Amino acid sequence: MIHVTASTRKILNGITDRQKYSLMIYSVALVHFFLVCQFGYLHVRPLFIFNIFSVLIYLASTILIRREKFLQVYYITYSEIVIHSFVATICVGWQYGFAQYLIAMIPIGFYMCYTMNTQRRKMMIAIGSALFAVLAFLSCKLLSFYLEPVYDLQRDTLELAMYIFNSVCTFLFLILFSLIFVFEIRQSNIKLRHQNAILDKLASTDPLTGLYNRRSMNVFLTQALESQSDFSIIMCDIDDFKKINDSYGHDFGDIVLKEIAQIILNQVKDSGYVCRWGGEEILILVASPTMEKVSRIAEDIRRNVANHVFPFESKWIRCTLTLGVASHASHETVEETITKADYNLYVGKRNGKNVVVH
Ligand code: GH3
Ligand code: MG
Ligand code: MG
Repeated sequence: MIHVTASTRKILNGITDRQKYSLMIYSVALVHFFLVCQFGYLHVRPLFIFNIFSVLIYLASTILIRREKFLQVYYITYSEIVIHSFVATICVGWQYGFAQYLIAMIPIGFYMCYTMNTQRRKMMIAIGSALFAVLAFLSCKLLSFYLEPVYDLQRDTLELAMYIFNSVCTFLFLILFSLIFVFEIRQSNIKLRHQNAILDKLASTDPLTGLYNRRSMNVFLTQALESQSDFSIIMCDIDDFKKINDSYGHDFGDIVLKEIAQIILNQVKDSGYVCRWGGEEILILVASPTMEKVSRIAEDIRRNVANHVFPFESKWIRCTLTLGVASHASHETVEETITKADYNLYVGKRNGKNVVVH
């Protein structure tokens, strides 16, 4: 049985790509809004105007996010940060830490390209923009080495405050994207486990009755043999099932098969495994040391099926089972035990059906 808890479902649904990228763009726009205020206050006109445009561009790119054009948003963000680093270095110098934002772009680039369906190109885009970020970062440093800044702010405490502000923002972006990465890896692991559970169930059960299929039963039989513990086999076969199909139709036959499977499951519970061995044959593996207990289970199944009525239109249809029981002897192979159970089933069929033979 596959259980999907409410919390799992919530994680599976997760936050949407649009929400994630909107969060990123709004936080970048907010940082630039602070920079607008900062450069307005300091009368650094080029950076003041540049950051006003940046805020407007980021707000406008929310339209692209709504259209799910995330790669374009990434290119816009990336270009803005590269150009801003150069303009800031030229205007006020290197020491304020504006070029640090280039470092934060590296994991963001990998994250965005990884989560987008750009397939083969995606890693090339991430690696390319990471290398370019390193190049731009070092170029800013070299530029500041050879070029005096246009504006000399001459305020030590301001320099410190701006440096701290830029560092905090850079680190916050890095932390935020690392957290999103971890969250999404966890989310895809949960999805994978959930899908594996579904595939496991599909591969190990019979779709009509929900019983184990022959493949899984072979695994249980091998385990029972290897554990060297006592076990028995009950082979069940529906009596005159062909007649039921012929008289009431194949669909009704399917219903009978499903209900009989359910009766058997209710009877066996945790005492063993039940599998659909073939057409209307059901094999039960019972882990029990005594033939008495196994025969009692078989007899209970026979009686419950015989007493059950299957409604068909205005009629009540009855159906019976014949069961062959065999205990595994230590020197036997599993196939030999199954053959014994099959033989007992055959004896039961020959002796009027609706019986348990052991
Ligand atoms: P017996 O008492 O000797 O077992 O007679 P029987 O009619 O049950 O045995 P037989 O082997 O002649 O026929 C088995 C029938 O079971 C034939 C087949 O169409 C039917 N059957 C097998 N699988 C399914 C199924 O999944 N659904 C339905 N409705 N019928 C099935
Ligand atoms: Mg039959
Ligand atoms: Mg049969």
